[in-house]
Amino acid sequence: KLENATAKAELGRASWKLLHTMMARFPEKPTADESQALKSYIQLFSRLYPCGDCAKHFQSMLKQYPPQVGSRNSAAGWACFVHNQVNERLHKELFDCNKIGDFYDCGCGEEDKTKGA
Ligand code: FAD
Repeated sequence: KLENATAKAELGRASWKLLHTMMARFPEKPTADESQALKSYIQLFSRLYPCGDCAKHFQSMLKQYPPQVGSRNSAAGWACFVHNQVNERLHKELFDCNKIGDFYDCGCGEEDKTKGA
């Protein structure tokens, strides 16, 4: 089957959106279990990501830059950084990670804020 660049890009945008929005809702002070859950999620995401070449690249990046799961800030900063690594490889504009703060909004308002999920 021919590569479909439009579908690949759309999958990428949707995936990044989910990933960054998840980070924006990750607890500021996660429990060990919450940090472990995020770490596993990222590993499994990289293993099961439906674009095989992307997954392969992403997996080798995870080895070089292990996921930072100790707090919301470090997780969001890490995801921004790795997305920028992909941007660089694809010759795209880099995102200013200092501006990540309010950029990703799950639309869920105040509900469940204490759970951070
Ligand atoms: P995207 O890169 O999809 O970004 C969407 C939006 O996110 C941007 O418009 C901007 O508002 C925001 N954004 C941009 N950079 C950041 C950042 N650093 N932090 C936070 N927000 C940001 N495509 C390939 O062709 N080859 C690959 O090897 C490849 N690997 C990928 C690996 C993964 C794990 C993922 C999720 C996607 C991968 N993609 C790959 C897809 C690629 O990254 C893009 O999603 C796709 O090319 C569409 O690009 P885009 O210009 O619309 O913006």
